[in-house]
Amino acid sequence: MSDYLIETKNLHKYFGKNEVLKGLDIQVKKGEVVVMIGPSGSGKSTFLRTMNLLEKPTKGEVYFEGTNIADKSVDVFKHREKMGMVFQQFNLFPNMTVLDNLTLAPVKTGKMNKEEATVKAKELLERVGMAEKADAYPQSLSGGQQQRVAIARALTMTPDVMLFDEPTSALDPEMVGEVLAVMQELAKEGMTMVVVTHEMGFAKEVADKVLFMADGVIVEEGTPTEVFDSPKEKRTQDFLAKVL
Ligand code: ADP
Ligand code: MG
Repeated sequence: MSDYLIETKNLHKYFGKNEVLKGLDIQVKKGEVVVMIGPSGSGKSTFLRTMNLLEKPTKGEVYFEGTNIADKSVDVFKHREKMGMVFQQFNLFPNMTVLDNLTLAPVKTGKMNKEEATVKAKELLERVGMAEKADAYPQSLSGGQQQRVAIARALTMTPDVMLFDEPTSALDPEMVGEVLAVMQELAKEGMTMVVVTHEMGFAKEVADKVLFMADGVIVEEGTPTEVFDSPKEKRTQDFLAKVL
């Protein structure tokens, strides 16, 4: 068994002839917060989606808890349940209350009965400061509130890792903080997290490791201090000069 919760080996993804991921070797240890930064179009979302097999890798391996989940013989659904995912656009079910959004997956997969799922959902809503909105519908909530609910929903399956794809990019500026605070709290509690974000402050403060991705490769990786304060690669320097 490797030391890593997630490890990709020589991960490639093509869309037609477009090679979007060019052989990524990435390691995530249990309890680690890995933040991925990089220009738009560099393959960050594709990487996250390939990591939980929402996209099938063209080549390479994705080890999750010791199993290569890119292998055809593996039950992807079983493993994906252990990976919570939060998207830029929240993706809550609009025709369901907040509470029903949270109880759906655990009940449907048979992990919990309705009562258990309800107890757990209420606990999680409490944790993200949304307990009072359990009976509300998503459209009546602000973007920041919807995203906090989406995080709570991703936690209902008790995932071993949380994947975040630009969770604050669709939010009005005044709501970014409340979502980052929830994520920071999760990190503090020891959740393993892979976060794609443009929030450099969050990256500096919360990341154990920062990956700079450009054009389908990891150009540079290191601690936040290494990457932000003394980037070695010209491409990293140029990117940071634009965003910092
Ligand atoms: P990022 O998240 O870093 O902005 P993406 O992973 O979304 O980058 O996209 C990387 C490249 O892959 C882009 O050129 C994009 O057009 C292409 N791409 C992403 N998803 C698909 C898809 N489903 N089909 C075809 N091309 C895609
Ligand atoms: Mg993206």
